[in-house]
Amino acid sequence: MRYVSTRGDMAPATFSDILLGGLAPDGGLTLPEAYPVLTPNELARWRGLSYPELAFAILRQFADDLPVEDLRALIDKTYTVAAFRTEAITPVTPLSDGVWLLGLSNGPTLAFKDIALQLLGNLFEYALLKTGGHLNILGATSGDTGSSAEYALRGKRGIRVFMLSPHQKMSRFQTAQMFSLQDPNIFNIAVRGVFDDCQDVVKAVSNDAEFKARYAIGTVNSINWARVAAQIVYYFKGWLAVTTREDQEVSFAVPSGNFGNICAGYIAKRMGLPIRRLILATNENNVLDEFFRTGVYRVRATDQVTHTSSPSMDISKASNFERFIFEAVGRDPAVVRELWRQVEAQGSFDLSGTPYFQTVRESGFVTGSSTHQNRMATIRRVYQESGMIIDTHTADGVKVGLEYREEGVPLLCLETALPVKFEDSIIEALGRSPERPAGYEQLETQPQRFEVMDKDVVAIKASIARHGG
Ligand SMILES: *Cc1c(COP(=O)(O)O)cnc(C)c1O
Repeated sequence: MRYVSTRGDMAPATFSDILLGGLAPDGGLTLPEAYPVLTPNELARWRGLSYPELAFAILRQFADDLPVEDLRALIDKTYTVAAFRTEAITPVTPLSDGVWLLGLSNGPTLAFKDIALQLLGNLFEYALLKTGGHLNILGATSGDTGSSAEYALRGKRGIRVFMLSPHQKMSRFQTAQMFSLQDPNIFNIAVRGVFDDCQDVVKAVSNDAEFKARYAIGTVNSINWARVAAQIVYYFKGWLAVTTREDQEVSFAVPSGNFGNICAGYIAKRMGLPIRRLILATNENNVLDEFFRTGVYRVRATDQVTHTSSPSMDISKASNFERFIFEAVGRDPAVVRELWRQVEAQGSFDLSGTPYFQTVRESGFVTGSSTHQNRMATIRRVYQESGMIIDTHTADGVKVGLEYREEGVPLLCLETALPVKFEDSIIEALGRSPERPAGYEQLETQPQRFEVMDKDVVAIKASIARHGG
């Protein structure tokens, strides 16, 4: 399989070529030249496969330049009961008649990002061992992404992680999750400031090309293609769990921010998985809901981003969205370049009134958004009807999913985090706290390892230079 860039100016590359990278050299995002398409027979044969077997069947098509036995070993090492606390890896639980929860949050940090990042950590280590290279991963986090990345990369050979987070601004649980890691290759830097200060430092370091090359600075952000590819698997797994015939359609409700999760669902649909609707749910930060309703993609200024009770969906722009637009404009990179030139120049583009918007409307997406009150009501409703406690992000998805529910079409709502991560909101909604999974009871009392620093690019660079691989 060959990979191309949405901006059209990258020589066709292999999976291994693009594995460690973020943006393509031309500033675009990478995608397969063509998606593999499955026959109903192939789908039928996948019934009964375990999660790692299914992951192998799907990912071997995208990572076709890796020796198959190596890929199989990496997948088997990743999707274990030890890491995901369940044989199914992504178990399906009924919420009400015809409505299911697809559990994606059983990995080490109790959020869906683990599913892709746990595999990415093993793929990165494998690729670096092969070339003898090393990587210093630099990132900024306000909570979830940073801990998922650290748990994916802890103890990996050839990799060190420098994660900046705003000092004393994360929840006690999130702070403890990250700072309790004692692995010598993990460096937590608590920056005196807010999340944007952390991001400014990361940008400043990344813009110093010489420093970046000299210290082999890399990232693991959500535009990484391997992350999207790994997420395709659970759409198949979910569909297999609730259907018995190959022509049976299901719909998925997806709490969305950067469009990474639902992008994987869209690709699953393109591969021939019978998906009726991809139900995209946003919170108050409704950039994507607005686009699918109006055709206008309008990014927000940082100070226009609302801080909500589903914080991992608080986005100003959707970094994976360009992959979908590339498809919507018939894979014409010149059009993509022009649209993103408009985003740069005026903060928006408008597809309404163009034939492209017709394609968008026919692509299977429907959308909606929710407010804090909607989330609280949805958490209560689900608890009353099923006895299950869902987190605030999952609640965004369930709320919009139920609005689009159709008789006879199973609805799978993606659970993107466990409620224990957002305890305060659960107490607000239900007057009680959610149970903690085994092993997480004492998290906040573990010894913590971190360094507090000022927002000082020079000092932080020096720290990377001192500790870097
Ligand atoms: C990252 C995240 C999301 C949003 O996923 P995208 O791939 O950015 O659309 C939703 N819920 C939780 C809990 C997350 O961590």
